[in-house]
Amino acid sequence: MTDDNNIQAVQTEQKKDDLWADNIHTRITKATFEMSENEKKNWYAEKLIKLAYHIGKRAEACSQCENLKKNVEELCSYIENGKDKDYEYKREYLGKMSVVMKHLGTDHKMINPGQLTVVAVVIGIIAGVITGYLTHMNGLYILIGAVTGLFVGIINERIAKKKGRVF
Ligand SMILES: [Zn+2]
Repeated sequence: MTDDNNIQAVQTEQKKDDLWADNIHTRITKATFEMSENEKKNWYAEKLIKLAYHIGKRAEACSQCENLKKNVEELCSYIENGKDKDYEYKREYLGKMSVVMKHLGTDHKMINPGQLTVVAVVIGIIAGVITGYLTHMNGLYILIGAVTGLFVGIINERIAKKKGRVF
C-alpha cells in the first residue's frame, strides 16, 4: 500500500470513529432531552459525551480504546433505560464510567480540568514559603509564588487542552 493509500485508510477510520462519537452524542442528547439540569448532572451526561469523543479519537491507534467503545455504548444504554432506577444502578453506572476514565488517565495521561493549575499554585506557594523564609519576607514571596503558579498553571492547562489531554 502506498503512503497516500495509508493516509486515506487512517482518515477513513478516523471518520468512522468520529461518526461513532457523534452517534453517542445524539443518543445521550435524546435520552436526557426531558431531564432537568440537575438530573443531567447526576448522570454526568456532558462528561460521557466528552469521553465518547476522547475514546473515538484514540480508538484507531489504541486497541484498549477500541474495546472501551463498547463500555461507552453500554453507559449510553444505562442512561436510556435509567428512568426510575435505584441508587445501586447509578453506582454501577459510575463504576463503569470510571473504568473508561482510568484508561484515559493512566495510558493517555489525560487530566481533570484545573488539575495542572492546582499543582502549579501549590508548587508556587511552597517555593514562596522557602524563599520567604530565607529572605524574611514571607508574605511577599508567598504571594509572588501563588500568582506565578496560577499563571503557569493556566498556560499549561491551555496547552494540554489544545492537545486534547483535558477531560
Ligand atoms: Zn486508549
